[in-house]
Amino acid sequence: MYKDLEGNTAIITGASSGIGRAMALRFGREKMNVVINYRSGEQEVNSIIQEIEQSGGQAIGVYGDVTREEDVKKLVAAAHEHFGSLDVMVNNAGIENEVPSEDLTLEDWRKVLDVNLTGAFLGCREAIDYMLEHRIKGRIINVSSVHEMIPWPHFVHYAASKGGIKMMTETLALEFAPKGIRVNSLGPGAIDTPINAAKFSDPAAKASVEALIPLGYIGKPEEIAAAAAWLASSESSYVTGITLFADGGMTKYPAFQGGHG
Ligand code: NAD
Repeated sequence: MYKDLEGNTAIITGASSGIGRAMALRFGREKMNVVINYRSGEQEVNSIIQEIEQSGGQAIGVYGDVTREEDVKKLVAAAHEHFGSLDVMVNNAGIENEVPSEDLTLEDWRKVLDVNLTGAFLGCREAIDYMLEHRIKGRIINVSSVHEMIPWPHFVHYAASKGGIKMMTETLALEFAPKGIRVNSLGPGAIDTPINAAKFSDPAAKASVEALIPLGYIGKPEEIAAAAAWLASSESSYVTGITLFADGGMTKYPAFQGGHG
């Protein structure tokens, strides 16, 4: 637990499920105020709010589509109205779909880039604008992926969006370091969340993913939430512009394990 996070206010986009949900619950245990953005899963949001309140934090749910500028502005306004501040912005909402690149429609390309990259940009811009206006040394956490560095055939739109997150994070980190605003990315490996539910329900497909993970298992959303809490806290005070990979070693070229190569 990080004492300095107590009473801080965070927005987490796409927080009704998976990694976003786990981060909301973790921030609640840190006794933070959490704005839970969701596009679906209102019932789930209500149970997350209850759990956060039981663990000593406060939370509200705010519906919104991160691709819509006015919806993202509303998230920041809600943080200000309800909790009087915005200290931590987590751009987590993301989507993916598998399509061989020669068949990828412009519509699908745009949809993934819109949510994963443009949505995160809007979250960064609105949060930074607020932090500058209120002289807050805020923290931005963009949820990227191992696929900001590992190429991923059939997911070119997804990989391009996460590669974009990497450069956006680094650029904003440099631009706003003089104001004390830290901007980092979090790069999960393969995590057990709804985005992977279909794949991991097939034992053979699951085993083929596990074979790519040196630590040998699919990560839990709580393990990503723990990394997010560290990036949000002052324990990471000298860290900006990085991607913190929480991936069981997936980015470390597992094909070379055992002396191959
Ligand atoms: P998930 O599907 O449970 O979570 C994604 C959330 O984003 C959902 O709640 C969804 O409703 C929300 N969302 C989608 N479009 C939205 C929009 N336009 N506006 C607001 N919310 C929207 O999956 P997850 O694994 O928890 O994914 C969270 C993030 O982690 C994503 O950015 C994903 O790319 C990233 N990630 C996941 C993994 C993994 O293995 N699970 C690995 C690397 C990166």
